[in-house]
Amino acid sequence: MAGFHTLQDEAGRSVRLSDVGASLVSVQVPDRAGTPGEVILGLDAPDDYLDNPHYLGATVGRCAGRIRRGRFHLEGQDHQLPLNFGDHHLHGGPEGFSHRPWETAGPVEGPDGIPEITFTLHSPDGDQGYPGAVDVAVTYRLEPGGRLRILFRGRADAPTHLSLTNHAYFNLAGRGDVKEHRLRLGASQVLLLDHDAIPTGEAVAVTGGPMDFTWARPLFQELPAYDHCFVLDGWDGSLREAARVEEPETGRTLTVLTTFPGVQLYTPEFEEGTKGRGGDYLGREGFCLEAQFLPDSPNHPHFPPTRLDPGEMWEQETVYLFGVA
Ligand code: BGC
Repeated sequence: MAGFHTLQDEAGRSVRLSDVGASLVSVQVPDRAGTPGEVILGLDAPDDYLDNPHYLGATVGRCAGRIRRGRFHLEGQDHQLPLNFGDHHLHGGPEGFSHRPWETAGPVEGPDGIPEITFTLHSPDGDQGYPGAVDVAVTYRLEPGGRLRILFRGRADAPTHLSLTNHAYFNLAGRGDVKEHRLRLGASQVLLLDHDAIPTGEAVAVTGGPMDFTWARPLFQELPAYDHCFVLDGWDGSLREAARVEEPETGRTLTVLTTFPGVQLYTPEFEEGTKGRGGDYLGREGFCLEAQFLPDSPNHPHFPPTRLDPGEMWEQETVYLFGVA
């Protein structure tokens, strides 16, 4: 049975989670006037997450993003994954981690007495074509000061690739067009894509162009939509600021910190009939900042590695820090 789970703090912030896809369902944080409101796109009922075609808030895996022709070579073997994005593989395949029920533990008191909820999933050998069995865990922790920490962990029993992300859509005003949001990214390079939106392996400088968010500027100033992976500057695997967003009307801000080397900026145009919380989503009502490894990493040895070997603990962390300006 699918269910929702809640974390709250004393300042009235609340976070709702779903065990289906270990998804982030809702985050309510105060605006400039102190009034709490929704900042994440989501769905109404727990069972709605079993059919979540836009991956609203979901944990995506085994590998977030695209893998060219669903193929990679590992340990002398070719692996063929199912194709669910034209001729390519996307977000772990048609039956990826994001649409499955995970086991739930918590809320329990974690370090410093901070409540946390952990979702775990066992993915058997051969699951969606990937070699080796993996066990993954995603922990959500609501820390004082509006800091939502997400810890991703994984272990494998044979060499494989693992590249989880959180696929939350943000709208710091709650509903409506997100075009007034201002975005700054800690990325002076973006991955070059081919005509199928698969990375060529090359990263190019963003300088001065429509991909240049090295200074805060409104979304969509020069392009109607983004679906691009930005390469974070100075990546060393430590937790660093990747993005900062400000919504001028409500004054709400979001800072994304992460250990991952990239951020996928994805700004969809929702079509009529897109199921959403309390009514359909339409147009540009949300955007994703998916902190992740670079898409198609298994096919680009010079990208930061997503390979996971037995005996290793795969650990990554992303923090969404909510505030007001
Ligand atoms: C991808 C998009 C895809 C979307 C699905 C994003 O992470 O980059 O291409 O359509 O997820 O919701």
